[in-house]
Parts: sequence; C-alpha cells; structure tokens
Amino acid sequence: METKNGKNTKKRNVQMCPYAKKCGGCDYQGIEYKRQLKMKQENVEKLLKPFVKVSPIVGMDNPYHYRHKVHAVFDCIGRGEVVAGVYKKNSHDVVDIESCQIEDEEADAIIRDIKGLLKSFRIKTYDEDTGYGLLRHVMVRKGYHTGQIMVILVLASPILPSKNNFVKALRKNHPDISTVVINVNDKKTSMVLGERNITIYGKGFIEDKLCGCTFRISPNSFYQVNPAQTEQLYAKAIACAKLTGEEKVIDAYCGTGTIGLIAAKSAKEVYGVELNKGAIKDAITNAKRNDIKNICFINEDAGKYMVSMAEKKEYADVVIMDPPRSGSDEAFLSAVVKLSPKRVVYVSCNPKTLARDLAYLVKRGYKVMEATPFDMFPMTEHVETVCLLSNRKPKPDTHVDLTLDMEDYYRIKDQEKTVK
Ligand code: SAH
Repeated sequence: METKNGKNTKKRNVQMCPYAKKCGGCDYQGIEYKRQLKMKQENVEKLLKPFVKVSPIVGMDNPYHYRHKVHAVFDCIGRGEVVAGVYKKNSHDVVDIESCQIEDEEADAIIRDIKGLLKSFRIKTYDEDTGYGLLRHVMVRKGYHTGQIMVILVLASPILPSKNNFVKALRKNHPDISTVVINVNDKKTSMVLGERNITIYGKGFIEDKLCGCTFRISPNSFYQVNPAQTEQLYAKAIACAKLTGEEKVIDAYCGTGTIGLIAAKSAKEVYGVELNKGAIKDAITNAKRNDIKNICFINEDAGKYMVSMAEKKEYADVVIMDPPRSGSDEAFLSAVVKLSPKRVVYVSCNPKTLARDLAYLVKRGYKVMEATPFDMFPMTEHVETVCLLSNRKPKPDTHVDLTLDMEDYYRIKDQEKTVK
C-alpha cells in the first residue's frame, strides 16, 4: 500500500534506515528510489515548464553509500561510552551511527575503528560544555577513482599522544589510508574544521580524477561529495558548452576550478571566477597539477567581475555558471545580457532559483534549449540541473580580444603569491 507521502514501505523495495527517526538527515528516507527520482523530475518539470521540456533525470544505479566525504562528531555518554555520528535534529545530542546508508562503507568502518581505539590510547572525546577533552570530530575523504583515503582528526589541541602508534593501529585494518591529518579546532564553534592542519602521516592531501583531470583534495577544500554523479554532471555541462577549441569561456562560481579545468582542454581560454580565496588557491594548484596553462583564476564576486567585463566591452563565447543555492544576482545576469555570449550553461543546485534566473535571461534574448536533472544526493530532496541557453541575437564580432598567453601563466603565479 502506498500513501501520499510515500511513508508506507510495505511491499516496496526500500531499505529502511534504523537511525532515520533520530538523525533526520535524509528527507526522502523510506521512499522507494524510483519514486524519489520521479518526485525530483516532477519538481524540476513544474518549475521549468514555461521554458523547456525537461529531459529524464540521471539517477544512480546504486543510490546507496555514495558520499565520499564522511563526517562524525564524537562524544561521550553515560559512564564513558564513546559515541560517534551526527547531531540529533535541533539538538547537540549525538546519535551513535555504526553505518549510514548514504556514506562510503569503508569511511564508516574507519570511524568505527577510531571509536574502538580511543580507550586503549587514552584519548578523551571533547566536551562542548566544559571544553575538556581532545577529539571533536573525524572526517574521512576518499578519492573515487584513486581510492586514496584521508583521515582528518579534529582535535581541541595540536598534540595527539602516541600519534605514530595510533596511525599504525588504524592503518593495520585500513591500509588504503594514504594520509592522516590533525586539524586543530580550539574554538567554541559549530564549524567542524579549524584553520590549522598538521600532517602526521602521508602527504596531507589526496588526489582524485574527474573527466580526465586530477584534482587535489586537502582537508578544507571543496569537492563534490558524490563523484560518480559529478562526473556525469560535468560531462553534460561541457557537452552543452559545445567547445571547438576556439572559445573564450567564463567559469563563474568556479570553486576549486573543476569545471573550468575540464573545459580548458577543449577551449581557447578559460577565466574562472570565485569569491572564496581558499578555493582559488586550490584551483591554481589544480591548474598546475594538470599542466593547464590556458586558464586564469580571479578571486572576485562573479557579478562584479562580469559587470567590469561588460564595461570594458570584453567578450565571452560561453558562460558556464554554477552558483550556490541562492542562485545568481541581477548584476551578474544583466552583465551576461550585455556581454551576450552565444551560450550560457547554467549548473544549478536549486531549481527554484534556476527558474527565477532563467526567466530573467529568457526575457532578454536567451532561449532555453535543454535541461537535464541529475540526482547527486539520493535519499534527500536535493536535485541538480544542467541547462543550456542559446543567444537568439548574438552580437557581431566587435569584441576586444584578450588572448591568453604566457603572461597569464605568470599571472597565475602572481596570484599564488597574493592568495595566501
Ligand atoms: N563549480 C564548482 C563550485 C560550485 S559551488 C564545483 O562544481 O565544484 C558554488 C561556488 O560559488 C562556491 O565555491 C562559492 O564559494 C561560490 N560563490 C558564492 N557566491 C559567489 C559570488 N558572489 N561570486 C563568486 N563566487 C561565489
């Protein structure tokens, strides 16, 4: 029997999560995966109906254990029982989670083992109220193609007693751990990571491959949590850009440069724009790591950057944009209209703000050619969408050409000096 909200799971192929009630992290928990996809498809269709016929959603063959970044908060309850998991919804009580349906299974096993090691190493969990204790959180990050694993121990102070033996004991069961980092977080804060990282084993970062590029993942760097789906999403975004090797591309809201770096291989030049300094630093590292020289990263508000481009009468052939959930803003969109690129590829993590921004562009000369939803986060209500917009009235070629040459390569080097 099926109820309206899909909560009745009888006769249906649903793996129930034993922590669902306490954890509350997965809003589509208990709903058959096929139905989850249908709900997401309908949601995007409803919002994009005025603009385009939406293509079928790209779902996962196996929607479980997809998260390659796993985080557990540590605490101690009763007579010293260590618990590790997530905060119960709207509280600071920790729900002890042995294994989670959407998290990588090896990452969960590492967290379980760390829990088991604490007693013999006399490591106390941190108490938020008293500020006493050492271990606050553990974060595990895993490369999808490389299988490299990074364990981040978030401690209230920089010293972990018998750290070498601790690493040895952990690696005995998990030889795939390639690096272990202590992250120092001595502040009273709900932020998981502090600013200081101390590598106690390995290189202090891992690498992963996406669409033929290699990316460095440091403890604090942003990297999509579902790499299998990300690869498909990026491939679609690049295909929509229809690059021939001649284009000047803007990768707006570029994060650590992933989309722009992949695009750079088939474009003349790429300009990545991003507000977050740390992300720009990672993007520059990634450009060097892949020996990509026709890309340049700008640490600025994407709207401001586009407005200044429009004022200088510069041009762009393709604008790829991947804004946060709040979507883009009028400064950015009006500058897009002024710059008048042939194509805009909009990668969205929120169909509501996507629809709002599409309406703006459609009113001003763009047509939505296609839209494909991607399920990056099974068991949750989130849905990503890749949209291609074409310019109905492309400008004649009266642009100022800013050809990227070796100077820009040095600009990357200079940026590295200033972005510290
Ligand atoms: N394209 C990247 C990141 C997308 S997430 C990827 O696929 O990995 C959205 C990014 O937009 C974040 O990195 C955030 O820091 C950045 N951002 C948010 N507001 C911005 C703004 N006003 N200008 C430029 N970047 C912004």
